[in-house]
Amino acid sequence: MIEKKNFYINGSWVSPKNQKDILVINPATEKSCAVISLGGKEDINDAVLAAKEAFKTWGYSSKQERIDLLENFYVLYKKRWNDITEAIIQEMGAPKDFASKLQTGTGASHTKSFIRYLKEFEFEKPLGEHAKNQRLIYEPKGVCALITPWNWPINQVTLKVIPALASGCTMILKPSELAPLSAMIIAELIDEAKFPKGVFNLVNGDGATTGDALTSHPDVNMISFTGSTRAGALISQNAAKDFKRLSLELGGKGANIIFKDADSEAIERGAFRCFRNSGQSCNAPTRMLVEKTIYDDAIVRLKKYASEFKVDDPNKEGEHIGPVISEVQFDKIQGLIQKGIDEGAKLIAGGTGKPEGLKDGYYVKPTVFADVNNDMEIARTEIFGPVLSVIPFETEEEAIQIANDTDYGLTNYIQTQDNDKVQRVARKLRSGMVDVNGAGIAVDAPFGGFKHSGIGREAGKEGLLEFLEVKSVGGWN
Ligand code: NAD
Repeated sequence: MIEKKNFYINGSWVSPKNQKDILVINPATEKSCAVISLGGKEDINDAVLAAKEAFKTWGYSSKQERIDLLENFYVLYKKRWNDITEAIIQEMGAPKDFASKLQTGTGASHTKSFIRYLKEFEFEKPLGEHAKNQRLIYEPKGVCALITPWNWPINQVTLKVIPALASGCTMILKPSELAPLSAMIIAELIDEAKFPKGVFNLVNGDGATTGDALTSHPDVNMISFTGSTRAGALISQNAAKDFKRLSLELGGKGANIIFKDADSEAIERGAFRCFRNSGQSCNAPTRMLVEKTIYDDAIVRLKKYASEFKVDDPNKEGEHIGPVISEVQFDKIQGLIQKGIDEGAKLIAGGTGKPEGLKDGYYVKPTVFADVNNDMEIARTEIFGPVLSVIPFETEEEAIQIANDTDYGLTNYIQTQDNDKVQRVARKLRSGMVDVNGAGIAVDAPFGGFKHSGIGREAGKEGLLEFLEVKSVGGWN
């Protein structure tokens, strides 16, 4: 079993002040694969103090110094690709190929992209031609608390750590206690890349103890959080007490509007995007809205597609999905599938219980409900499992109304060959992102949500700006 009990504070791996161990469970075996420690208030105090001290110099470091160190990090990241992938397979059950190409892959692409934006970014510039003696200076926000979830562990870590480093902030990362192993490799790489001590710190732990101590610490200037809407609300209360800057990436309940002139692969592509990563993506299209005239055909196709969709051991190569993260999550999903049946939605594939032949591991059957009404719980709650709700609609206006009738607003999807319709509907959808005909959202496009899906944007230039304050200086000659 892997032992990773120490925290990375002020440039060294140190023992926790009060040893409290927790096990990391491999969701494919239901057995522990590692032991980590749970940080308390004193560990958080040490880490915040280190970050505060380091900010005194790192906050004024040159852009070139930061570029050089991030480039070191990028080279080292690629060398440890297989270790990162292996950690992700073990900690959250992502299948091998998917873990390598997409999970580990996103960490590399975000790092590369942020280095490019850092090179281009002007930290000082005049307000404009009309006001040359008005200077804008972009400065790092200071000590940042970075809190990440387990579902895209390295994607989330790099979306925060890399722009924080690039902007000159110092930080304390608290990765998910369910999937901390890949994040600990990032700490090793930062150490090896030779970032100054105290710039980056990592303390493991849960939300209620470690996360709360971090987000309520008076010397933390900014919180960047990705996770549930529930925890986002609690963290916002902590931030409000002393006006900490706040960035929140929360849940979603994306609608995928399939018009009758959608391309021939839209239905299966929509189900695939819902099931991918075992349904554990905040931007998954979990509500499929299908135009009435093609509805019956869509249901036949979805029944076939979902029934044949492969669920298997994450250590095997191939295009299957693995288990969901934990027993708690498995039970929650089972309860919601049962709720869908009880509420009268028509189960056409999957259902409760484990897929055949998979007794150990938190495996869930790819499930499709037809004839779902948008008021049902399965259409309103973020299930975070491979469960698709199909809802019929008659008109464009009705589709927009159903898509927007949710507390969330992260990603919506449109499938049609009519470009005027695409542009009309995309403008009316209340979400931070709209994905058309499977085009995807670029790695450096602003990522974030409207409404309960969060505050702020990650990735690319907007992601860098999240970590910067802007100062206006008049009379600059
Ligand atoms: P979670 O909120 O339970 O945990 C996320 C992180 O927050 C963990 O590190 C956890 O320890 C910590 N945490 C929990 N309670 C806390 C508290 N009170 N104070 C401080 N920290 C606390 O979420 P999860 O179950 O790990 O992740 C799944 C959720 O994340 C889903 O709702 C999903 O939609 C969301 N998510 C959103 C995005 C996005 O970019 N919008 C991306 C990935 C995941």
